[in-house]
Amino acid sequence: MKRITITIIYDNCKENRDLQEGWGFSALIETGHRKILFDTGNNRDAFFSNSEKLGIDCGEITDIIFSHKHNDHIAGCREILGKMRENCRVYFPKGFPSKLVPKNLQIQKVSDFQEIEKNVFAMGLKGGILLHEQSLILQTEKGLIIITGCAHPGITNILESAQKKLKAPLYLVLGGFHLFRKGCHSIEKIVNKFQALGVSRVAPCHCSGEPAIRKFQEAYQQDFCKIGTGSILTIL
Ligand SMILES: [Zn+2]
Ligand SMILES: [Zn+2]
Repeated sequence: MKRITITIIYDNCKENRDLQEGWGFSALIETGHRKILFDTGNNRDAFFSNSEKLGIDCGEITDIIFSHKHNDHIAGCREILGKMRENCRVYFPKGFPSKLVPKNLQIQKVSDFQEIEKNVFAMGLKGGILLHEQSLILQTEKGLIIITGCAHPGITNILESAQKKLKAPLYLVLGGFHLFRKGCHSIEKIVNKFQALGVSRVAPCHCSGEPAIRKFQEAYQQDFCKIGTGSILTIL
């Protein structure tokens, strides 16, 4: 896999003044062959308006992954799915409410680990009783790129599981790390764990929380990517 572009459509913060931000997460991942929509944020109007301003055409999306069923990740779910072309592939985690799915779409339920296409995987883990969450993993020459929604199963558990499955170094971890309720000491332990696991670059956003984002920035310096609504990251 050569060039990968990650566009943040919706996040708690914004990096582009013309877009709407809010508590939630949505990103588009382009890999050359595929345009993968990962979550849709918590505001349907903001999703459509931001997508339009970012030049994203919903009809070109080839795959949709909903990380988990919480409202800050599935805004306008039914409507968005209704706009997709017929052969668009949809990946839900186990336990995702089926009432959100239009009948004509082919849904794949990810409970464990699934190859979406060569070098692209969805990995589901339990994030608590009755909550399953999946992360997106891209295998690149630099190592694994892991994209998380809320990381309810625990961000370091996700990293360890991905590494165990694919036996490759961890290049970039991007998304919500769910550390906004954690104290200083726990955050430090998690940052240390990232370094012990050999994670090269980090891009925490959404529910990672300001204190954790600051700690990651201090620890990773030039390998910390500040992202928010409207950020576009290109990995060559
Ligand atoms: Zn959540
Ligand atoms: Zn969330």
